[in-house]
This record gives sequence, structure tokens and C-alpha cells, in this order.
Amino acid sequence: MRAILEAGFDALHLPKDRIPALERYAELLLETNKVMNLTAITEPADVANLHFLDCLSLLTLMDFSGKSVADIGTGAGFPGLPLKIAEPDIQLTLVDALGKRVTFLQSVCDELGLSDVACVHARAEEFAATKREQFDIVTSRAVANLPILLELGLPLVKVGGTFAAMKSVECDDELKAAAHAIEVLGGAPAEIKDYTIPGTEITHRLVLIRKVKKSSEKYPRMFAKMKKNPL
Ligand code: SAH
Repeated sequence: MRAILEAGFDALHLPKDRIPALERYAELLLETNKVMNLTAITEPADVANLHFLDCLSLLTLMDFSGKSVADIGTGAGFPGLPLKIAEPDIQLTLVDALGKRVTFLQSVCDELGLSDVACVHARAEEFAATKREQFDIVTSRAVANLPILLELGLPLVKVGGTFAAMKSVECDDELKAAAHAIEVLGGAPAEIKDYTIPGTEITHRLVLIRKVKKSSEKYPRMFAKMKKNPL
């Protein structure tokens, strides 16, 4: 894992003094994964590439420094926690609907001594009731398809801020389907940034949606409604 992370940090121009914290995070992840379902990725090399370097690639695509960031459906902390470890002045909120995962996240933050991280056990659509239009950046990876994801996430973004959805390069149909949701929720047309995870031949896609006006208070709706009748 060390060699992969060092080469990746070089490629991404990140300070290597953060690598030990990521390694400790990986240990806690793989240890805890034996007793709780946190990740299907269990080879250390895959954790380095498919979790850490995938998430850290975002730092080369947009500026996170000093920003308030909410990561919704963060699971075992992706992408939010690697971003915070590499860019410590992020004010981070990790949100997940599963309490056990949030307890794990809190223990990682405590052990790594991270400050300015809130680990919140909530459904994103409920979290929006108190935190709407409050974040510079909202991130999400592998949580829902775009029309639903946007309804969960875009109401949390400040006007002038950005929703950043980590997707596969095969998301053109999803993007087409999301055009209406983007407009209704106050977003500008999506900007696409494809990137290759350093040291691999894997290309992923960051879908960026800038918020240009407030989202109607009608959104997000209850999850069952979003699913039944997506925007
Ligand atoms: N983002 C992580 C986890 C993806 S799995 C990663 O890329 O590895 C999806 C996660 O989203 C799960 O942990 C699930 O509990 C959470 N989730 C799904 N719907 C949610 C919702 N409406 N609000 C909050 N969390 C949600």
C-alpha cells in the first residue's frame, strides 16, 4: 500500500506526510470490515487505488481548500474522509443513513485526531431539513442515480457552490435523465471531468453541477416519492 500511495501522491502533487494517516485508516477499515459490512474491497492495493486514490483525484479537479463539504451516503467515508486527510482545512460533514457506519467513521476521526469533522447519522433527505443551502461543496459516490442523487444533494449546496457526483464514464444516459432535475433544483448544466486514477488504467468521471439559484423548499421529497416519481 505504501508504494502505491507514494506514487499516487507524487502524481497528484499531494504532501506525503498524510500517507501514514491513510494507512491507519486502511487498517481500521479492514479490521472493522471483518465484523461489519463496510466495503467489498479488501485487498490493500485495491483500497489504495479504488478508494483512496480515486477519491483523492478530486483534489486535482476542484479546489477544496477551506471549503465546507458534506459527503452524503459516505459509507465507510468515501470520498469525504480521504479528502479531509489530504486537505486538513476542509470543514467536513459525513452523512450516512446507517448508524453502524457512522459510529465507525467517528472512531476513525477520533483515532486520527481530525478536527472539524461532523459524523451525522441521518438520511440525506432529512438532513436537508436543517442544513439546506449551507455547503460550498456536496460530494457523493455510489449512492443513487443522478436524478435522485441531485434531489438529495443539491438542496444542501449554497448558491455559488457545487455538487460533485463521482460516476462511471458510462453515465451519459443518467446525465440526460438528470437535465430536468438540475434545472428544477437550481443547477447550471453539468460539467464533466473524466480522470484516470494514478497508477491504473481506470477512468472515472466527476459530474459537477454549480448551484445558480435556490432549490424550491418542496425538495427533497420523501425517498419513496423520489423513487416512484424521479424529477
Ligand atoms: N460513498 C461510499 C458508500 C457507497 S454505498 C463509497 O463510495 O464507498 C451507499 C451508502 O449510502 C450506504 O452506506 C448507505 O447507507 C448510504 N445511503 C443510501 N441512501 C442514503 C440516503 N438517502 N441518505 C443517507 N445515506 C444514504
